[in-house]
Amino acid sequence: MAAPKVAVVGAGVIGLSTALCIVETCPSSSVTVLSAQFSPNTTSDVAAGMLIPHTYPGTPIHVQKQWFKETFTYLFAISNSAEASEAGIHLVSGWQVFKSTPKEELPFWSDVVLGFRPMSKAELQKFPQHQFGQAFTTLKCDCPPYLLWLEKRLKATGVQMHNRKVADLWELHREYDIVVNCTGIGAHQLVGDKKLFPVRGQVLQVHAPWVKNFIRDGDGLTYIYPGIHRVTLGGTREKESWSLSPDPSTTKDIFDRCCSLEASLQEAQDIKVKVGLRPSRQCVRLQREVLSQGGVKLPVVHNYGHGAGGFSVHRGTAKEAARLVVECIAALQGSSSRAKL
Ligand code: FAD
Repeated sequence: MAAPKVAVVGAGVIGLSTALCIVETCPSSSVTVLSAQFSPNTTSDVAAGMLIPHTYPGTPIHVQKQWFKETFTYLFAISNSAEASEAGIHLVSGWQVFKSTPKEELPFWSDVVLGFRPMSKAELQKFPQHQFGQAFTTLKCDCPPYLLWLEKRLKATGVQMHNRKVADLWELHREYDIVVNCTGIGAHQLVGDKKLFPVRGQVLQVHAPWVKNFIRDGDGLTYIYPGIHRVTLGGTREKESWSLSPDPSTTKDIFDRCCSLEASLQEAQDIKVKVGLRPSRQCVRLQREVLSQGGVKLPVVHNYGHGAGGFSVHRGTAKEAARLVVECIAALQGSSSRAKL
């Protein structure tokens, strides 16, 4: 069989990292990225990009931990390289604070991030409305720089990128041997996945270079995440809302909540508002499927539905998707050698 032609549909953090893992795992394949939008116009461009996992109720915890660990290890190596600044990857230390002690004092990811420990009484004095807290160091991806870095790496390995909205995965069967579906919330329409729903998120990006530590309220709703150039202030989680228009009253609410955690933000300048739709599901859809019409078959690998935690697990799920692509290639090679007999 000639070099298998693989189309990756979607150019958010999941599509780009999956394309890269396929190139690394199967260098003989020919990979093309097809996408309706590229950076800076994807949901991934809106994300704060913090590596703090979100929990998927339908996925075993040991699997989620493995995805997070692989992602952390990969980005930690970039943060320690000369490429860190271009890739927008940096370490950031800070606090997750709770109004009352959570049931789970040690989250499953506590031994993956660096230096995880309960906050001291002295540290908690910074947060008079909170009773309990955890201090740790994690990684943050600044988006879009990280997406542009992934695109640059893909182009350097010869991957083609085309602007194309795919109406039906089957339309690709004449041009490609394998299709990888990384369309995020777009999969709701593209493959009619009714288990996938949007969770709208509005965030502010502000100029406040004196804010160096992250602060996250344990309910996950209010957060302050300093990046290389801007600080992200969040947020909202509005289930089933498809609106991409910023809401001015929400902007004020987010700003006030963040100022109550970090009063110095009152002096923040140049406030920009962004909205994105988290592609949410009980579990990430990471599986093989074979589409078939009139005896013609098209192997598909799905990798979408990362909800609120796509950055935190992207490398782990991309590696798993690449492994599924290898299985598809082996199945195609098996059927082409049987056909020759
Ligand atoms: P997307 O980035 O939406 O990419 C999907 C791609 O598919 C796009 O390029 C799109 O154009 C393309 N596409 C869709 N349909 C089609 C079609 N029919 N044909 C062709 N192309 C198509 N996660 C974290 O881990 N940490 C965080 O701090 C964090 N903060 C967040 C803050 C907010 C406000 C939001 C909204 C999300 C946040 N997330 C965070 C979650 C994270 O953004 C998502 O999990 C992640 O971006 C999903 O990536 P994706 O590539 O699947 O989707």
